[in-house]
Amino acid sequence: MIDYHVHTSLCHHACGTIEDYYRAACEKGLMEIGFADHFPLEMMDYRPARPVTMAARELPYYLAKVEELRERSADPAVRLGAEVDFIPGKMKKIREVLADPRFDYLLGSVHFMGDWDFTHPQFQEEFGRCDLWKVYRDYFDLVKDACRSGLFDIAAHIDVVKKFGYRPSSDLRPLWQAVIDEVKRADMCVEVNTAGLAAPVGEIYPAPEFLRMCRRRNVPVSLGSDAHRPEDVGRNLDQAVALLKAVGYQEVATFSRRCRTMVPLE
Ligand code: ZN
Ligand code: FE
Ligand code: FE
Ligand code: ZN
Repeated sequence: MIDYHVHTSLCHHACGTIEDYYRAACEKGLMEIGFADHFPLEMMDYRPARPVTMAARELPYYLAKVEELRERSADPAVRLGAEVDFIPGKMKKIREVLADPRFDYLLGSVHFMGDWDFTHPQFQEEFGRCDLWKVYRDYFDLVKDACRSGLFDIAAHIDVVKKFGYRPSSDLRPLWQAVIDEVKRADMCVEVNTAGLAAPVGEIYPAPEFLRMCRRRNVPVSLGSDAHRPEDVGRNLDQAVALLKAVGYQEVATFSRRCRTMVPLE
């Protein structure tokens, strides 16, 4: 089992230290744990009301600390990643920082549409006031732009816009297909993220039919719990693996210094 999406207290909305998460990964018998804490939004001139990412001054500590753990850990192996928000027009500023040779992989995420933090429970009522088709279309447009940026290895929780259960009644497959085409063009993976199971929507990211379409296009996948507490490391990954097998996947992606290696699903 591999978990490539865990956070730490450095992002100001998760708990537990890097060591706490590593200990949890040992206890759960994971093969690899990948740290993917939230990359500093302030480096993209984006300042939400409350801090939801590392501060820029905390990034060097995070990189050094995870790298140091990575160097002395073999079982489970440690990987150094980050979950990076795609903020249109602001990605040039961080291109060099993201090229740090220590990174094993980068997750690309969309959590903001304009200044709407749409994955935050506090702002979910906004969905009720919006044309949901337009919200979905705008969201997936941002995901496509994130893919085109060429900065990322993995598209994180690719249909997270469904988190609170608001969905347009129309067929979403044309939107999904367009995104999958961009993921494929960018040679990225789609993340199978189990946090959706515990969210109001109660469904893994991406939706089973979305994943089936990824399989048809031969898009590789990675695995992540999106743990924000050490006890959530590896949570429900067995369900993710079962779903992957059900739609025909036989392997998942691992990364080392931005190079992808596929490993068989047990
Ligand atoms: Zn988070
Ligand atoms: Fe996220
Ligand atoms: Fe996350
Ligand atoms: Zn996340």
